[in-house]
Amino acid sequence: MTVAARADSPLMEIDLDRLAGNWQTVRDRYTGAALGAVVKCNAYGLGLEPVVATLSHRGCRQYWTLGYDEACRVRALAPAAEVFVLTGLRGASARDCRTQRLIPVLNDLDEIAQARRAGALTVAIALDTGLGRLGLRPEAVARLAKQGLAPLRVRAWITQPASFSAPEGADGQNLHDRFLDLIAPLPRAARSLAISASVFTCPEHHLDMARVGSALYGVDTSPSLDLPLLPVASLRAPVLQVADLPAGAGIGYDRQFRCPGPMRVATLGIGYAHGLPYALMSRGAVYFGPYRAPVVGGVSMGLIGVDVTGLPVDLAIPGQWAEIFGEHQRLETLAALAGLPANAMLIATATGCGRRYHAARPDQPFASRLSESLP
Ligand SMILES: *Cc1c(COP(=O)(O)O)cnc(C)c1O
Repeated sequence: MTVAARADSPLMEIDLDRLAGNWQTVRDRYTGAALGAVVKCNAYGLGLEPVVATLSHRGCRQYWTLGYDEACRVRALAPAAEVFVLTGLRGASARDCRTQRLIPVLNDLDEIAQARRAGALTVAIALDTGLGRLGLRPEAVARLAKQGLAPLRVRAWITQPASFSAPEGADGQNLHDRFLDLIAPLPRAARSLAISASVFTCPEHHLDMARVGSALYGVDTSPSLDLPLLPVASLRAPVLQVADLPAGAGIGYDRQFRCPGPMRVATLGIGYAHGLPYALMSRGAVYFGPYRAPVVGGVSMGLIGVDVTGLPVDLAIPGQWAEIFGEHQRLETLAALAGLPANAMLIATATGCGRRYHAARPDQPFASRLSESLP
């Protein structure tokens, strides 16, 4: 079923062939044993079902999720895959995990003790090597080495780099060696250190398992490198009205912007309710084809104004669309102007806007099943 594009709400288009292409690019670069996909937070907002279907079809057999409910959804979508739950046993009992065949990532000694009391279970264990979030601190790792783990089976030791753009760590920190030293006294299991940027920038970090999110979704977490990733999501917003305003006219609440001269301004149907950052007040631009139209005035709940003075008249009229990000402007560029990491803007807009999926390749399992999902 194809739903006609509405002309009063923004629309995110998600290209599943490009998702598959990025999977292949990462696959080609990764030298370790198992490449896993991070699909936390509804696959970075893009939709768990189409993303898991596409990646499973391409051979992905490991998924990393945040939260028990999400893990159960992935379990149902990918019956043969290993499904890791980064929040461990906080939202599920060991028995729940056993029933659903989920692998909880245990993050502290209490959780490990709780899991051991519940009997045999396959788990992963996270170490905190400097991010200061989830995971066992080095003192706890030393205690763990003494106390043992039976009857748990450890599938993997994992740690999250403290920088997603430069995962090797600042000079002298050598995350790789510190991680291997920490786990040396512990039982042997797969070692997982690599995230998106590590796949491209630190071959040494590849080890046994990678947990890759951003790169699959076409988000470049180390933009200085110009990685061969394809943008997966693009976003557009409809023109609702065009007005010719005189010099001195205000645009937006409390006259957030004042026209320095006569201006033609298009009102677009997108705002912070759709995840567009408020920080784009009179900052950044959208595109009509190759033409740049700067944001003028504030970002309202469901509207923004853009300056279309001098643009070909038939490009910026009701019924036409403005590109927020996509072909002419990268998500990363606009996010940086708003002071946000690209993932933050991707998730907010993907969650706030209707999404439409494209898959041209006939072998894509998703092509004919779902074409649109509302926010
Ligand atoms: C989000 C996350 C990742 C993925 O990071 P990317 O830079 O998006 O590839 C990997 N591991 C853990 C534990 C995460 O929370």
